[in-house]
Amino acid sequence: MARRILIAGNWKMNKTSREGAALVGEILAGLPSGNLPEIVVCPPYLTIPAVVDAARGSAVEVGAENVHWAESGAFTGEVSTAMLLDAGVTHVLVGHSERRQYFGETDETVNSRVKAALAAGLVVIACVGETLAEREAGETAAVIDRQVRKALEGVESTEKVVIAYEPVWAIGTGKTATPDMAQEVHAQIRAILRDLYGDAADGVRILYGGSMKPANAPELLAKPDIDGGLIGGASLKAPDFLALVKAGAEA
Ligand code: PEP
Repeated sequence: MARRILIAGNWKMNKTSREGAALVGEILAGLPSGNLPEIVVCPPYLTIPAVVDAARGSAVEVGAENVHWAESGAFTGEVSTAMLLDAGVTHVLVGHSERRQYFGETDETVNSRVKAALAAGLVVIACVGETLAEREAGETAAVIDRQVRKALEGVESTEKVVIAYEPVWAIGTGKTATPDMAQEVHAQIRAILRDLYGDAADGVRILYGGSMKPANAPELLAKPDIDGGLIGGASLKAPDFLALVKAGAEA
């Protein structure tokens, strides 16, 4: 089953509204002609309206970096699916390792967010990945198994599910998993999906994230189970992001 490559930028806590709109403008001006991968940028909540405006009618879609599971209520600092949809968001990251590491995100809260986002019709990019200590202890496969199964608990259709494998030790560190290391885990994730969803597993995109950049993207994207990238640092500069889009178009 052919899977369309997805190149997604995670801007994290970077860029004001004006800077984000300018970055989208630069990306749009530099997009190659011809077949494109799916392109998503995920800016901070407050700048989403400006980024949606800048991307309107273009090939660039806008995602959020998180979402709460409740419809509304006393959840200070949180944002609901309805608010994201109202702002023009189509995708949402869930369970990024920085949320897990710094903000108390657990497998259970990841699952609640995934289910709420899917119920609202958003495309969910659910992030999983082992820490350096877990890899060194030989626990990678067990961690991935637990995180993927728990994230998808109670999820019946994978139609709007994307998984991002992001080894925590490779995020923002300049260390990238080798294409073989990444492919091994991606194949494991595909096998878990097959166990849960049968042949539908072949239609689920599995992105790699962790210091992906123009120099290493072609080799990573050449692997059979790597269907795109979730990109932090290199998504903040238009030339780098455009080079990744091009790598995605050529994969
Ligand atoms: C990320 O945070 O999702 C990420 C992959 O970051 P970086 O590309 O900077 O390692």
